[in-house]
Amino acid sequence: MKWILKPGVVTIPGNLKTEDNTDKTKFTMQTAVTTMKELTQEKWTKRPLIISGPCSAETEEQMIETATRLAKTGKVDMLRAGIWKPRTKPGLFEGNGIVALPWLAKAKQLTGLPTTVEVATGKHVEDALKFNVDMLWVGARTTVNPFSVQEVADALRGVDVPVLIKNPVHPDLELWSGAIERLQKVGVRQVGMIHRGFSSYGNTEFRNAPMWHLPIEMKRRYPDMPLICDPSHICGNRTSLQSVAQKSIDLDFDGLMMESHIDPDNAWSDAKQQVTPERLLEMLNDLVWRHETTTEQEFITALTTLREQINQVDDELLTLLGQRMKLSDKIGEYKKNNNITILQTNRWNDILERAFKKGEALGLTKEFITKYFDAVHLESIQHQNKIMNS
Ligand code: PEP
Ligand code: MN
Repeated sequence: MKWILKPGVVTIPGNLKTEDNTDKTKFTMQTAVTTMKELTQEKWTKRPLIISGPCSAETEEQMIETATRLAKTGKVDMLRAGIWKPRTKPGLFEGNGIVALPWLAKAKQLTGLPTTVEVATGKHVEDALKFNVDMLWVGARTTVNPFSVQEVADALRGVDVPVLIKNPVHPDLELWSGAIERLQKVGVRQVGMIHRGFSSYGNTEFRNAPMWHLPIEMKRRYPDMPLICDPSHICGNRTSLQSVAQKSIDLDFDGLMMESHIDPDNAWSDAKQQVTPERLLEMLNDLVWRHETTTEQEFITALTTLREQINQVDDELLTLLGQRMKLSDKIGEYKKNNNITILQTNRWNDILERAFKKGEALGLTKEFITKYFDAVHLESIQHQNKIMNS
């Protein structure tokens, strides 16, 4: 089907008024396009590429109003919506399924925004394509499962539609690139990546830890592949959306996918992390888009990338130090049970000698090694003291 869209004022039938009484039924279409396919192609290469829309397509009215208000921002390139929702627990809203697809088609017709939905099975792919969804994405819970990814890939054989692949739920880059390869193997020409963070056990600052070094590594592996950041699922709340989005821009990501809702607090899924289209616009306006000069962008990206790698190494060092102290604690228990003194000078001299040798080979000065090991030793003695006296 061809979508012929003309620039000018578009009026939507019905009565879409917000609380402040502004009329949402009228907006101006800026671009004239011939086909949605061409427009989608244009969007694929546009930087930054901004995708927004609700976590879930809840009702026709919600979809149309969201799309209209997003189009009004003039900053959103594509409309997203969850049709089939993979929920962790049963009993939660699992999406409206196929009945919601015409709503998206209508929202597209009214606003000129190409659409994108999540697919997890071959049937999802078939249904989405039947309703002319312009781009598909594979969700984090699907990327982890090679059977599902292969089923999606098989359904896409011979189909020319762009597909974005979210990172798997857990930090396994081979699964992520495996999914990319499966799609490329069946002939999908346009494959992109979405970074939505990685799940970790227990309460962390983020719903899904960004682990920035991982998308950085994927960018190194696939330098020409679009990489989009999804701050909504990384943050799981509204407060850190802006800083996560900014960080991704500093790392030279190609765009953002952010969830938006006409009434975020009452969204049927992911209520805590969605923002209104108007708030989204404010956030997009406040972002610093790094495009002044190429060299400046290169410098900022290089610096941010290196800093991120340093953060990662520091985290690993701290984890190892924690492990080291746990070993000291164990030794402390033995010493206590066998009545042995904490400080054993010979052992300490051995440790230092080994470290000087290794440090020299690694370009670390004797002075630094001494300071570092003194600090580690002191901490270790304090740990063992505590155990001896407990
Ligand atoms: C979503 O985009 O609404 C979604 C379910 O995300 P993810 O696959 O990242 O969990
Ligand atoms: Mn969601």
